[in-house]
Amino acid sequence: MEENFSAALKDIERIHKLSEKEMRAAELADQAAEELAGSEFQHYLNHEVNPDYIRIAEKYGLFGLPISEEYGGSGSGLLSAVLVNQRFGQLGLGFPTFYDVNIFIGASSLARWGTEEQKSACLKPLAHGKSIIAFGLTEPEAGSEPTAMKTTYTKEGSEYVLNGTKYLITNGSIADHIIIFAKSEEDGKSITAFLVKTKENGFSVEMNLHEKIGLFTSDTAMLRLENLHAEKENILGEEGKGMHVAYSALLNGRLGIASGCIGVIEGSLKAAVSRAQERVQHGKLIGKHQLIQRHIAEMRENLEMARWPTYSAALRKSEYDKNPSDRTFTEEMDLRTALAKKIASRLAFESADRAVQVYGGFGYSLLAPVGALFCDSRVSRIYEGTDEIMELKIAEGVLGKGFEAFE
Ligand SMILES: Cc1cc2nc3c(=O)[nH]c(=O)nc-3n(C[C@H](O)[C@H](O)[C@H](O)COP(=O)(O)OP(=O)(O)OC[C@H]3O[C@@H](n4cnc5c(N)ncnc54)[C@H](O)[C@@H]3O)c2cc1C
Repeated sequence: MEENFSAALKDIERIHKLSEKEMRAAELADQAAEELAGSEFQHYLNHEVNPDYIRIAEKYGLFGLPISEEYGGSGSGLLSAVLVNQRFGQLGLGFPTFYDVNIFIGASSLARWGTEEQKSACLKPLAHGKSIIAFGLTEPEAGSEPTAMKTTYTKEGSEYVLNGTKYLITNGSIADHIIIFAKSEEDGKSITAFLVKTKENGFSVEMNLHEKIGLFTSDTAMLRLENLHAEKENILGEEGKGMHVAYSALLNGRLGIASGCIGVIEGSLKAAVSRAQERVQHGKLIGKHQLIQRHIAEMRENLEMARWPTYSAALRKSEYDKNPSDRTFTEEMDLRTALAKKIASRLAFESADRAVQVYGGFGYSLLAPVGALFCDSRVSRIYEGTDEIMELKIAEGVLGKGFEAFE
């Protein structure tokens, strides 16, 4: 096992005794990440989506980890998924983003809101990597303000007809199912979540976004819905209550991103330490120059500062999931997950930047192990709630009622 990953496991054990299943999840994640590393590096250099994600996650049983045994998973709990994203984050955020949308967002939404039919059709195959999920909330004119969405549904007899565009959708062109959010044409405000197959008539991939400034190995697509027909059975949660589905999914999703960011910090630190211990300038190892030591010390501090809000939020979230209708608990989770994401993503970006600095000129290249970490970590401060939106949530959580950021 990677030295700093096993150190991380020891650190968790200071606040939580890992179960056998969680330990097993960590071992599997470690082996799987080890196996993925070569192809991830190559596909990153080529700016290609990595097709091995599904195969590797399926081979090591990673999809099913937090899914209950009843639906084909191993019931290993949320912390297992955190450990997976943390370990893979050492390679960059491509796999953690893929896994986040499938598991932290997709599986958790189905487990909480899905009917038995939806769970059979989607959650069970997902547990074995046989169905990939995407989450379609963002639109060209509705990002931080998702309720401004323009995708609509109209009722035609017993059917719902959806039209619109979804943009920047992770797994968008590789997914089998997608959770799509649309607004009632009739009243112009009720938002409903639909779980639909991507192979349905009326669904198409308009564009793959290849021109990102990082995250090359993760699929990002723009999707078009043109008279897509859905049934009542496709509604996820209650009609008109789609934003409850969206917000609960993002609580979990933010933990997935924070976990990947811990991995980015671990990867940055590991790479910087090895460079500092072998590169000689001015007659000595650069690790013996105190200004380089400061970068190393700051990265180690960042790791410590990112771990606790993330682990403690994940442990609280596991408790919360037993009673998700408790309003006070929901507010606490909103605050804790925003803290975890905001802190971990900022520190990941800062750590990757420091690692590039320790590497010098070679670090400003995708050939160095720090290049992907630097390019990928920037997006963690944007997707699933920008830094600014997280700050508003944190302030709201601290100031309390009457200080809500949004009506
Ligand atoms: C690689 C990638 C993958 C993604 N995957 C998905 C996905 O799978 N599914 C999905 O639905 N979306 C996805 N997104 C979209 C992502 O969640 C949005 O980009 C994000 O929510 C921000 O929305 P926006 O880009 O429209 O920015 P905007 O909302 O236009 O924000 C622009 C700036 O204004 C600030 N701002 C906005 N409102 C306020 C306010 N009230 N107060 C202060 N500042 C404010 C923002 O913080 C930001 O700095 C993805 C994005 C990327 C880049």
